[in-house]
Amino acid sequence: MSQIYDLIVHNINLATLSEKYIQDDNPYGIVENAAICVKDGKIENIIANVEQQSGELETEDAIDGQGYWMSPGLIDCHTHLVYGGNRANEFEMRLEGASYEEIAKAGGGIVSTVKATRETSKKELFDLAAKRLSYLIDEGVTSIEIKSGYGLDLETERKMLKVAKDLNEFSPVEVSKTFLGAHAVPTEFKDRAEEYIDLVCEEMMPQLHSEGLIDCVDAFCEGIGFSLEQTQKVFEKAKSLDLPVKLHAEQLSDLGGSRMACDYNAWSVDHLEFLNPDDVSRLAESGTVATLLPGAFYFLSETKLPPIDELRKQNVPIAIATDSNPGSSPCLSLLLMMNMATTLFKLTPLEALKGTTINAAKALNIDSKVGSIEIGKQADLAIWDIGAPAELSYRIGGNPCKGVIKNGEVILSKF
Ligand SMILES: [Zn+2]
Repeated sequence: MSQIYDLIVHNINLATLSEKYIQDDNPYGIVENAAICVKDGKIENIIANVEQQSGELETEDAIDGQGYWMSPGLIDCHTHLVYGGNRANEFEMRLEGASYEEIAKAGGGIVSTVKATRETSKKELFDLAAKRLSYLIDEGVTSIEIKSGYGLDLETERKMLKVAKDLNEFSPVEVSKTFLGAHAVPTEFKDRAEEYIDLVCEEMMPQLHSEGLIDCVDAFCEGIGFSLEQTQKVFEKAKSLDLPVKLHAEQLSDLGGSRMACDYNAWSVDHLEFLNPDDVSRLAESGTVATLLPGAFYFLSETKLPPIDELRKQNVPIAIATDSNPGSSPCLSLLLMMNMATTLFKLTPLEALKGTTINAAKALNIDSKVGSIEIGKQADLAIWDIGAPAELSYRIGGNPCKGVIKNGEVILSKF
């Protein structure tokens, strides 16, 4: 058997999260005491209750899973991982009484990171982001989304997206590149947001798209970001270039951004604390994922909860991500986000795990190839020293990850 497979992991319990195995009495799609066989980077076979055939599987290329658990590789579907500097000083300001909005209006916030990112070389940005990424990989992450949006000029947005592209090429994980030119109004366009949006739409987006640097287009639709009309302009341009969209929406107020994004079949709408429950049906209709970001909610000491019950009732896929960024979520732990999704947003551990696997894959439109353990999908897998899948959300700190496999290659092993 070893001859026909490139890799076998046996003596392992699978939380497949695959519709092929999920049943009412088995919501995680668990396959116990399994062997998983990989060929050409893909899952070629899954064998349950292996005792009877263990002779065939005892080969040199086999990994003894020692009774641990395996999940799909985790997916962080919303990050701002590439940036210069950090904002520990603003963290301190905020604790001394200033609000996020006050800091933004005083020229701090996103704009201060823009300055640092413009001044940081591409190589240095790559090194910084690769280091941050390594923490995520240590916790089983095999795919990630990275946004631009700290350049706010063509040259720096390009630099950021090229770093994301290089991480895709030179790190072991896959990177989805999101153009977030409409993240903030740069200081040189102060009080000229319309003109800046024109620059985003007429120069930056078409140019960066022609260079193959954009997988999806995002914007920050908020009182301190861009209006609904300005966001729509960005989306119209994306549509004309055949680019998909997603949106930072309803984080601090309800501007109706999610509703509008659904008209463009957005891959996801993200944050959503102020999403009107009446708008949830729009997400369900357009197949848009609701991406919740408990790290920002926690770090900004927010109190208004996203409309979780309504999202559940209408079967909207819920994803969980780090929103890793220097201002509102300096977070490098997707496991901690799963814990916060359960403790702060009252998601179940199953919902939290789906939120960082299959539903996160849906948010990046890669669910046909990753996000669950099933035959034919990429062998993107994480191995955990836990007694049951719920432990992934239950723990606070400590890292039970024992191994990470990407495209059938072992990229991390603590065996
Ligand atoms: Zn964000």
